[in-house]
Amino acid sequence: MTAQLIDGIALSKQLREHVAARTQALRQRGVQPGLAVILVGDNAASQVYVRNKVKACEEAGFHSVLERYDAGLSQQALLEHIERLNRDDRIHGILVQLPLPDHIDAQRVIEAISPEKDVDGFHIASAGALMTGLPGFWPCTPYGCLKMLDSIGYDLKGKHAVVIGRSNIVGKPMALMLLQRNATVTVCHSGTHDLAHFTRQADVIVAAVGKRNVLTADMVKPGAVVLDVGMNRNDAGKLCGDVDFDGVRQVASYLTPVPGGVGPMTITMLLVNTLESAERVAKLPS
Ligand code: NAP
Repeated sequence: MTAQLIDGIALSKQLREHVAARTQALRQRGVQPGLAVILVGDNAASQVYVRNKVKACEEAGFHSVLERYDAGLSQQALLEHIERLNRDDRIHGILVQLPLPDHIDAQRVIEAISPEKDVDGFHIASAGALMTGLPGFWPCTPYGCLKMLDSIGYDLKGKHAVVIGRSNIVGKPMALMLLQRNATVTVCHSGTHDLAHFTRQADVIVAAVGKRNVLTADMVKPGAVVLDVGMNRNDAGKLCGDVDFDGVRQVASYLTPVPGGVGPMTITMLLVNTLESAERVAKLPS
């Protein structure tokens, strides 16, 4: 079997066209979705991510604001900037690019963002809403993974999903989303004994570790669907995922490539969250 690839670029294009059309309709009602991105310091990768987010916002017809501060910005000053953006009616989503410099408590900063504008879905209120099944912002990367499963018409009900990784931004919210779709979910992590024992039973595997070749062909049940969230560099310096792509491709039914898989979906879901935030505001009586 050779797995079909789930093309994150093509799916993103389709979803972003839909976002742009809804944005156009909203603007005709006098509301332009607005995203504020805050970058502190000069982390090279963060600069690229932030640039891509701002570009995607502009292409979708959003109002976008990029606030850049040097690495010496105090935590108090950052909290005050967030407070100002919380009060700004043109801004429907606030994103603080992580990582932050060591002297700043990232969790404290995330909690300062109004839950109504927490389009990254990292606020404890968003996490609580996801856990309890209430409406709220879902973290963009796992949300994008779910959209990829939807795009192939995959019904998760009764399926066994194995998530490798338990971070607050990918693994845990991914597990909760799969659970909400009635999958039976196993979460594996660095303390898991015999990872292959679990992955071999899985109908769906989400690899979100950050290490090359965490998942190899012998660990995958024939016909499984494999989503690769990882972003690593191979020996030649090229971007690669957590999955041994060439090997797993011979066993899985569907597989996401890296690059061109989950990565583009993350920004797309950020646009979706920001648009939906603006749509909620537009529905409020003025
Ligand atoms: P993270 O916070 O470092 O979490 C990694 C997780 O992997 C942890 O839960 C860790 O377990 C687990 N782990 C480590 N070694 C393992 C092993 N040998 N077997 C099983 N589990 C193991 O990373 P993250 O933020 O979730 O990101 C994961 C990867 O996804 C990274 O490569 C990151 O760059 C990528 N990513 C991509 C996107 C995108 O847009 N494509 C977005 C976000 C992240 P413990 O909890 O026990 O330490």
